[in-house]
Amino acid sequence: SDSHFPVPTSPCHVDLSLHYPQFCSSSDQIDSSKKIQFADIGCGFGGLLISLSTLFPDTLMIGMELRDKVTEYVKERILALRVANPGQYQNISVVRTNSMKYIPNYFEKGQLSKMFFLFPDPHFKEKNHRRRVISTHLLDEYAYALGVGGIIYTITDVEELGDWMNACLESHPMFEALTEEELQADPVVKLLSSATEEGQKVARNGGQTFQAVYRRIMPAT
Ligand code: SAM
Repeated sequence: SDSHFPVPTSPCHVDLSLHYPQFCSSSDQIDSSKKIQFADIGCGFGGLLISLSTLFPDTLMIGMELRDKVTEYVKERILALRVANPGQYQNISVVRTNSMKYIPNYFEKGQLSKMFFLFPDPHFKEKNHRRRVISTHLLDEYAYALGVGGIIYTITDVEELGDWMNACLESHPMFEALTEEELQADPVVKLLSSATEEGQKVARNGGQTFQAVYRRIMPAT
């Protein structure tokens, strides 16, 4: 249950020195205003974080994962990469948490520039739709944590869930879809299916994917 993992009481209680020791120890990299900017929600085995780490080496990123064993695996994986590649993979970390409850405990208003929801659990039955990680209500929280211009990336192999995520985002006043040109120009879009373990599985099986990528905007007044 939730009582088995610690939850910071507010974003200023997130101890960055535990997650990113090298960033917090070497004086040339020290920047007290440094904040986590990317969040991979339901990060699974961490493939996306690992790909993003070298693409954005100065950006702090965190994976949020509910399963204890999976979280421990990702921690070990990152530590091993740090040992094998000195100076690299210092900007990624993972926490075990329930993202549907605790996003506001981790991120302050406008802090994030990217949020990822890649191959989330589909929760097919109508009575379980409230468990979906994208919903109108949760998008309010994500819009709070994302800065204006920040981007939310979603992808799934379940068409019905893809339609659902797209519809939730489309109808939300604080999000607008990226244009086709913007999607093409964004190197991160290509990683959505290629870098994650779930995406690789779907690709191996020749499955289709459905993505929705939206920008946090200022709502028209
Ligand atoms: N994003 C990864 C990928 O594409 O390979 C993993 C996808 S997996 C199908 C969904 C993940 O979300 C699982 O690892 C699950 O434990 C995690 N998850 C489900 N509900 C969650 C929640 N409320 N908070 C954090 N993680 C959650």
